[in-house]
Amino acid sequence: MKLAILGAAGRMGQNLLRCACKMDGCTVVAAVERPDHPAIGSLVKEVSGIRSERLPDSLCFSGNWPESAEAVIDFTFHTSVVDNLKNAVANGQAYVLGTTGLTDEEKDAVHAAATQIPVVWAPNMSLGVNLLLELVRRSASVLGPDYDAEIVEMHHRLKKDAPSGTALGLAEALAEGRGVNLKDVACYGREGITGERPRGEIGIHALRGGSVVGDHTVMFVADEERIELTHRANSRESFAAGALRAALWLVNRKPGVYTMRHVLGFEPA
Ligand code: NAD
Repeated sequence: MKLAILGAAGRMGQNLLRCACKMDGCTVVAAVERPDHPAIGSLVKEVSGIRSERLPDSLCFSGNWPESAEAVIDFTFHTSVVDNLKNAVANGQAYVLGTTGLTDEEKDAVHAAATQIPVVWAPNMSLGVNLLLELVRRSASVLGPDYDAEIVEMHHRLKKDAPSGTALGLAEALAEGRGVNLKDVACYGREGITGERPRGEIGIHALRGGSVVGDHTVMFVADEERIELTHRANSRESFAAGALRAALWLVNRKPGVYTMRHVLGFEPA
């Protein structure tokens, strides 16, 4: 697969470049950045410090659209996504969209593009987190509301939002598994005279400290036993590895919006 990385000098872009060099069946043909980025024209090997025979010595950061790529992976900024999609449609390229924070108009543009090209779109591309979502959905459906469900997440002290998008995704998966509406049963933290825990409540709690990349635990607690499902991210490479697996899966698929559930085979494509 000939792959282009959009946002290649960014935090995710750098992780993608490193991971792509370790992945069989994947050749990076373009490292794309915004045209005014200081890295434009510099050698990727020099800027990124990547030592791999799989990364062409002459590959430079570029501001041009990567026409020769079969798949593009977008980890840029939400305002760039609409133009990027237009270019991918014009070149018939598979599109893996990891960029978050899209406006409603930008989301509409993703759906419109997906009538012509295949798109994998996921706010969290980690394989482990996506597997956890499925385990939580299934566990909730099997165990039901007799098992009190609590979600605890922990992130580094610099994180600006709480609870994390992933914790909310886990809460949604839990509610879906139980066949209830999350907003009817969610409880975000507890304080004061809260009264007894209502049956069916889903508790969601955020811890902050240090440089924790991202921990999520979902507990199902009954009188006689407790099940805990935990995912711990060690680095951003978990997102990069998932995005690359999605790209390999996506090339030559028919147009449409796919999620990591499709990539992992939990839902037929
Ligand atoms: P970053 O700011 O470090 O990197 C973004 C890069 O994109 C920058 O280098 C920027 O110059 C570049 N860029 C902006 N517009 C561009 C354009 N039009 N063409 C090419 N390059 C362009 O940010 P980051 O931490 O790498 O995150 C990027 C995005 O990915 C964010 O939206 C973030 O929330 C999201 N993200 C998603 C996942 C996931 O699993 N889906 C995981 C981590 C981050």
